[in-house]
Order: sequence, then C-alpha cells, then structure tokens
Amino acid sequence: MEPAFSTSVDNDKHRLLRRQLRRIFGMEIEPKGNLSTLLEAVSNSYYEADSERHLLENALEVNARELTETNKKLRLIIENTPAGIVMLDREMRFLFTNQRWLQDRHLTTHDIVGKRYFEVNPVTPSHWEETLRRSLAGATESCEEDPTVQQDGRIEWIRWQAHPWYAADGVIGGVILITEDITERKLAEEQLRIAAVAFQSRDGMLVTDTRGTILQVNQAFTEVTGYRAEEAVGRTAALLHSDRQDATFYRNMWEAISREGHWEGEIWNRRKDGGVYPEWLSISGVRDPSSKITHYLGIFSSISDPKEAERKILELAFYDSLTGLPNRHLLLDRLQQALASSTRNGQFGAVLLLDLDHFKTINDTRGHAVGDELLVEVASRLRDTLRETDSTARLGGDEFVVLLEGLHAEQIAAATIAETIAEKLRAAISQPIPLLGEMRHITPSIGITLFCNPKEDADTLLRQADLALYQAKDAGRNTIRFYNPRMQAVVDTRVEMEAGLRNALTSGEFMLHYQAQVDANNALIGAEALLRWQPHGQAMISPADFIPVAENSGLIVPIGCWVLDTACDQLAAWAHNPTTRNLVLAVNISAGQFRQPDFIDHIRSALQRSGAHPTRLKLELTESLLLEEVEKVIKTMMALKEIGIRFAIDDFGTGYSSLAYLKRLPLDQLKIDQSFVRDIAIDADDRAIVQAIISLASSLGLHVIAEGVETEAQRDFLAAHGCQAYQGYLFGRPAPADQIDKLIHTRSTPHACLF
Ligand code: C2E
Ligand code: CA
Ligand code: CA
Repeated sequence: MEPAFSTSVDNDKHRLLRRQLRRIFGMEIEPKGNLSTLLEAVSNSYYEADSERHLLENALEVNARELTETNKKLRLIIENTPAGIVMLDREMRFLFTNQRWLQDRHLTTHDIVGKRYFEVNPVTPSHWEETLRRSLAGATESCEEDPTVQQDGRIEWIRWQAHPWYAADGVIGGVILITEDITERKLAEEQLRIAAVAFQSRDGMLVTDTRGTILQVNQAFTEVTGYRAEEAVGRTAALLHSDRQDATFYRNMWEAISREGHWEGEIWNRRKDGGVYPEWLSISGVRDPSSKITHYLGIFSSISDPKEAERKILELAFYDSLTGLPNRHLLLDRLQQALASSTRNGQFGAVLLLDLDHFKTINDTRGHAVGDELLVEVASRLRDTLRETDSTARLGGDEFVVLLEGLHAEQIAAATIAETIAEKLRAAISQPIPLLGEMRHITPSIGITLFCNPKEDADTLLRQADLALYQAKDAGRNTIRFYNPRMQAVVDTRVEMEAGLRNALTSGEFMLHYQAQVDANNALIGAEALLRWQPHGQAMISPADFIPVAENSGLIVPIGCWVLDTACDQLAAWAHNPTTRNLVLAVNISAGQFRQPDFIDHIRSALQRSGAHPTRLKLELTESLLLEEVEKVIKTMMALKEIGIRFAIDDFGTGYSSLAYLKRLPLDQLKIDQSFVRDIAIDADDRAIVQAIISLASSLGLHVIAEGVETEAQRDFLAAHGCQAYQGYLFGRPAPADQIDKLIHTRSTPHACLF
C-alpha cells in the first residue's frame, strides 16, 4: 500500500503538485487518497486535455479546409462579378484588383504592382481624390452615374462605390473601390430617349403588334385622326379604314410588308368625325435580334396641308401654347445638350429660374385673361432682352427658365455675367405693363445656378435654381439669388461696389495720385497718374479692386474721361512752372476706354480745354489691348501720335507681344513689369527676362522704364544693363500732386525729357 498524503512533507508535495497542475492544465484537481490515485487523476485529466487538443486540431483542420473552400468561392465570385474591384492601402497603393478591373483598363497585374491608384489612372475625375480621402476617413461614397472622360476623349459612364476596409486591429487599412462600366446602358437609355423624342415628331405615328392591334400612338396621330390615345389603343388599325380602298389593296399592302418589311404609299383614311382624307403612309416592320418581325410602325403625314400640320404638331410637342416659348420638355433637352457642351468646352453656363412676385393675386383678382396677357408680355420681354443664343422656356404657371451658355471659363467671371443678365431681365420685367387700360407693375424673383460639371444633370440644376429662387423670395422678392453662397458673396460685393462707383464721380470721391519717374541720374522726368477712390467716410479702395468692376460695368468710360481731364489739368498747372513744365505724365488707359469711337475726340478736347501740351501726355496701354483688332488699334494710335501724344506698353513681358508686331506700333516706351523687377536679386530667369526686354527695346529704338523698383540693388542691376528710367517706392510712393512739387525742390532741376 502506498502511504496516503498524511504527513506535512506529503502536504508540501501535494501543494507543489497542485500548483504545477494548475499551471499545466489550467484546472484544479482535488487530490484525494494516495499518490497513485492522484497520478491517475493527473493522467486522466492529461488525457482529457490531450483529446480535447486533438478535437481542436481536427476542428481547426476542418475550419482551414472550409476557409480555403470559402476563399475559393469568394475568389470565384470576385473574379466573375461584372464589376471592377480594387483594394488600396492607406497610401492608395494597390493591394488587390480583380481581373475585370484590369481588363476594363487594358492593364495587367504587372502594371499596377507597387503603384499608387492615381499613377495608373491619370484620367480619373478630379473629385475622386477627394472621395477616396473621405473613404479613408470612414465614409462610404457612391455615385450611380459618373461620366469620366477617357484619354482619347471618349466619355465612359461608370457607377462606383468606395468604402473603407478595416484591419484586424479595427483601424482603417485603406479603401475598397467597386466600379461598374455602365456606358452601354447609358447609350441604350440615350437611344430610348431619342426614340421617345422622335416619336413626338410632326408625323402621326402608331405602333401595332403583328396582328395589327394598336399599342401606342403619338400626339400628331390624335391631331390628324381625331382619336385620342385611349380610344385607339387596343383597337386594330382597321379603325382608320375608309371604303376608298378595297380588300385587294390591303392584301397587297400586307404582302409587301411581310416580304420586304416595308410599304409606303398614298392611302385614304377615315377620321373619327367621319371625314375622309388622303395621307402618305409608311409602314415598317420592327425586328427583334433574330430578325423576326415583332411590331409594325406606321408613320403618316396628312397630304391636305402638311406644312400647317407640321407646324402645329411641333408646337404642341415642344412649345407652350400661351407664350410660344419652349416648354419643359424642350428645355430639358436643351439643358442636357448645354451640359454636355459645357463639359466639352470648359465654359460655365447658368440656369436662371424666374418667378413673378404675387402673380397669383393678379390672376385671382383680375381674372385669368389678364393673368395670361401678363405672361405673354413677360415672355416677350424675356425674348427681347436675351441674346439669340440664350434659351427661354416656360415651365408652367408663372415660372420661366432662362438658359445661358458659354459664359466664361472662370466661375466667378461667369457668375458676374449671369448676374448682369439676370439684373437686365429683372429691370425689363419690372417696367410697368399696360393691361386692359391700366398700368400694372410686376416684379420677378430670380434664382441662379451655374454649371460646368459633367456630374450634374438637368433635374439637379433645376432643383438648385429652385432653391436659390426660394431664397430670393425669402429675401423680400424682386431679388436675385445664387444657389452657391460663395458666388452670392462675390456678386454682392461687386454689386455694392458698382453702385458706389456710379456715385463716386458726382460725389467727388476720386482723386489722382502721382508717382515719380526718374532717369538714370535720379532726375525727375515725369510721373504716372494713379487713380484713387475714397468713398465718403470709408477707407481708400485699391484700384486693383475697383478698376475690374468699372471695366465690367462700362463705368470705366466716364471714369477714364475724368482721369484724362484731371491729368490734363495737372499738366497745364505744371506748364506754368519752369521746374515742372517738362514733366511727362503717364495715364493708364483701359481697353474699353480706348475702343470708344470718340476716344480721340475726347483726348483732343481735354487737351484743348486745359491747354496742356500733347507731347507731355503719355498713354499706358496693356499688351492685351494691343493684340485685339490690331488694325483699328494702330489707326487710333497713329491719329493720336500725329498730335504728339506718346505711348508706353504697360506691364511689359506679361502678355504675348511678338517682335514683328511691336515694330508696327507707334510706340515710345516699354515698361518692364514689376513682377520681373521684384525678384531680380533671387531669380535668374527674371534677370534674363529683364536683360532681354532691355535689349529688345534698344533694338526697336524704344525707351525703357522699370516699375516697382524698391531697392538700390534692383536699380543697380537695371542700370548696369542699360535701363534708362525708373519708377518705384525707392524714388517715391504715389502721392497727391503737391508731393511731386515738394520732390522737385529737394532734387536738382529736372532734365528736359529726352524720350
Ligand atoms: P499699374 O498701371 O501697373 O500701376 C503700378 C502699380 O504699382 C500701382 O498700383 C503702384 O502704386 C504700384 N507700385 C508703384 N511702385 C511700386 C513699388 O515699388 N512696389 C510695389 N509693390 N508696387 C508699386 P496701384 O496704384 O494700386 O494701381 C493698380 C493698378 O490699377 C494699376 O497698375 C493700373 O492697372 C490700375 N489703375 C490705376 N489707375 C488707373 C487709371 O486711372 N485708369 C486705369 N484704367 N487703370 C488704373
Ligand atoms: Ca501703369
Ligand atoms: Ca504696370
């Protein structure tokens, strides 16, 4: 007999054994009895644990097999879905793509290994980058129809979804992108749309099944026969038979159709009201892919007065009968085209949704006849105000839509033009309207949205314009609002500034500052007149901000006249003083001002009135002005040159003047743009450009001046390369005229101007 665990030594062993058992098996074994019982217990539990491990191993093996199976199935599915699947890591590097994705792009695995998504897909729309970034941040993004322009210019429509995938630690590991090429479906849809429009043609049409039962008729069919669609559908084409043709005629006709799939000829049919009329009928069989005829399409035009019928049917299908404007149907079609062409040419267009304020009240209190008359008048004002290329449509009720195309490639410039046109429309409609002997006053609210994005569709645009219209109404009606708040802010400031500029001339808010121009010896030879605008009680506004607004609104013309008049007065004042009489004053001229038919006259009369000497006046023109309507520009310059006026090209080097062209212009001076002068010290390219301009000027026999000279170093470099004159903060900032006079007294007597 083995001794039982009864001694303290045994007890120690016992504790030790228990600890080890706990460690090995993670289980408690209650030791009872002697050592052999204990060992039995141990071996039993060990055996249990072992068999458990066996079971586990077996299970794992089965699992692994199942996993491989599942994996195989998954792979099969992934490789055979009609969609492209891409898995990217956080750096947008490829981890996996299915074959479909590669095939669609004519790529092999080799082309993508180690590459980033956008390296392989250079034509991916730019908004994708943003989308993938959002997915990396946890968002699921999708798009049902995304037109992507391919490298060869083709548009491929795709449907896609992007969502993050999570690594085992729950952190986003990258993005899974699923794309589906839906170009074929889109093309089919387009065909359907075209077919639908074609079906609304001027000719009467009916579709029958092979037994001659009418399935569908168009509007023109009803116009000609008098049968509405619901009266004709379900009956056979014999409904229209008159007794002018006998059974043989019809038999021959059907024989020809079944033989050749087509028949065409004159036929007498009977209208619903019993009248019999001749028509030109053409019947074609519609075949399915296996060439079996499944339907017949009949097209007929009335022979009695085809022109009249044609006009009427067209009108019914596409035009609003009250105002004669295109209806919603035609508008949507044009909008679709406009979207496509704006995507192609990169020019923004705009949709203006216009609604008459309180129209319902007039309609209700004055009667529908007055309401209708009002709508007709509004339509005609819209038509009269717009360019021929713009479209107007009536959506229904008192809602009109104006479609503006090809506004501008820059969004903000496009918004500005759209706003100007909307304002014109608003003003035109707001003029009193004579209605039944009374003058009526009605105003519109206008919502605007811009488009230049292939992702937008006609419905979205109308919805956006509608939202903007709603805001216009909310803002108190008789108002214009943009869908995009940023556009609204830009337009608001511009409109405010334009209103301010209109007042500025009469309120005397403009003044001229003068900035010194010096020669190589630092002697004052003249000045440039720079316009300043300080609205009453406000800070000075920079010409860089207000000149573009003045140019856009046409206000630059009266403002420019004021500048010229004031400059001439200054020249006349300088002429009285021997120290200033030789100063030449440079005046900036905008393109819009230069092209005024009376520009030459105005200069002449400004000189005459003030008594200023023409040879002391120099006009600064920009290269862009000189490049348009060249012959006209040369003529105007020549005429002014004859009376002694000089010309400088401003901002030279920033435009595209060619040497040959410069030679033809009666120029006196090139003004090196300040952007080149600024970086002379640090930019070798700028140094080279400056040198080139100076030697170009010398070869053309032109005087050269540098603007924006701020440091001695800049002046020294320019001087070393033969620049003859300078303007810039180094010599004086633009300041009121008396500062120039002060400058004279602190310098030596100015040299006579030599250029
Ligand atoms: P601009 O004709 O190129 O005029 C030169 C601009 O450079 C002026 O800005 C002048 O103040 C600034 N400037 C002069 N020296 C320095 C310099 O050393 N450093 C720097 N950084 N700038 C210097 P300003 O007065 O703000 O005029 C801006 C623009 O507004 C003018 O550019 C011109 O295009 C237009 N402008 C000004 N007055 C008239 C005007 O009477 N009629 C027209 N059509 N445009 C004008
Ligand atoms: Ca200038
Ligand atoms: Ca300049």
